[in-house]
Amino acid sequence: MAAASGTVYLDHAATTPLDGRVLEAMLPYLTDHFGNPSSIYAAGREAAAAVRTAREQVAAVLSCAPEEIHFTSGGTEADNAAIRGIALAQRNRRGHGHIVTSAIEHHAVLHTVEWMEKRLGFEATYLPVDEHGLVHPVDLAAAMQENTALVSLMYANNEVGTIEPIAELAEIARARSVPFHTDAVQAGGLLGLDVDELKVDALSLSAHKFYGPKGVGVLYLRRGTPFLATQTGGAQERNRRAGTENVAGIVGLATALTLAQQERQAEVARLTALRDRLIQGVLSSIPESRLTGHPTRRLANSASFVFRYIEGESILLSLDMEDIAASSGSACTSGALEPSGVLLAMGLPHELAHGSLRLTLGHSTTEEQVDRVLAVLPGIVQRLRTMSPLGPGQSTQCATS
Ligand code: PLP
Repeated sequence: MAAASGTVYLDHAATTPLDGRVLEAMLPYLTDHFGNPSSIYAAGREAAAAVRTAREQVAAVLSCAPEEIHFTSGGTEADNAAIRGIALAQRNRRGHGHIVTSAIEHHAVLHTVEWMEKRLGFEATYLPVDEHGLVHPVDLAAAMQENTALVSLMYANNEVGTIEPIAELAEIARARSVPFHTDAVQAGGLLGLDVDELKVDALSLSAHKFYGPKGVGVLYLRRGTPFLATQTGGAQERNRRAGTENVAGIVGLATALTLAQQERQAEVARLTALRDRLIQGVLSSIPESRLTGHPTRRLANSASFVFRYIEGESILLSLDMEDIAASSGSACTSGALEPSGVLLAMGLPHELAHGSLRLTLGHSTTEEQVDRVLAVLPGIVQRLRTMSPLGPGQSTQCATS
């Protein structure tokens, strides 16, 4: 299941290939069974039944009621709907206008909270993280205010793989009757999603992170959680998410999540062994390399590093020439390399945060592939360092700008 012949695909946190079994489940709803679930005739009822079954399958994985599952167009929409929907309802009902989140959230959360601040006058607290990317419960407790409308903290970080103590954090919000949302997009397929164990009131998922299709996600909303629908139109999803359902996508999401749940234990054990082989291999063969994220509380598929004196982008280009697909936390914007905000929030100095590399494993990853990376990466880092403009006192401008 390699991304392309010979390619070593190590960017499963960005997206995963569609599982063949998922495609098979989806195909009838892209062809013969094309009805609109809102139509009353047979084809519509058939589509509605498929969505109903998918909702039950997702609810079974989350250990919740099917009515608490809302299908969306992906993780970004689920995060947006949770934050806007809950915070606005809380302000309307109680006058609460304060949101707590963290400095290391995905932009789907971070930019939404920032927008609520700038455009709607909400107040926000961005919790700090420690050097491993962990949010500490004491910091959340200290940040809670009388008027806190919502807490939104991610389950696992997309850049460094750190797994947050969600149940412990959610407990703090629950004790104060404040709704708690978690962005579980990176956790889907890798971590337990029982919403009662997690003690969360809202949770976001995205199918393309667990071998489902792109453009479909889930927003779980616990019964009774204040929510004002911000997308208006039809009465779909119990008036909470207007728009004709993406029937094939929803069937694909539910199939992929069910498969991920069934295969999770074995796959997590396999990935953990491969991940640790990769981490140990990199750290032992590359001088001045450092693991980012938590050493043990990390996603089974996630290995992330920083290498002093070089830019993550140039490592990616060199890896690409070796047919290895990977990712970096930094982004080349407006001609200057911006180091990852996540790494900076974890206290890494700028010069280290520039040289970040994220390798995320998945179904297609084999030991041979890990060894191929270990065979080429030390040479790439060494070569880039000899040409690096990033030595002490040097500029950090993009070479290409
Ligand atoms: N949240 C996290 C943690 C993610 O990693 C992503 C995607 O990378 C998203 C949200 C957005 O999900 P989607 O791509 O489905 O919009």
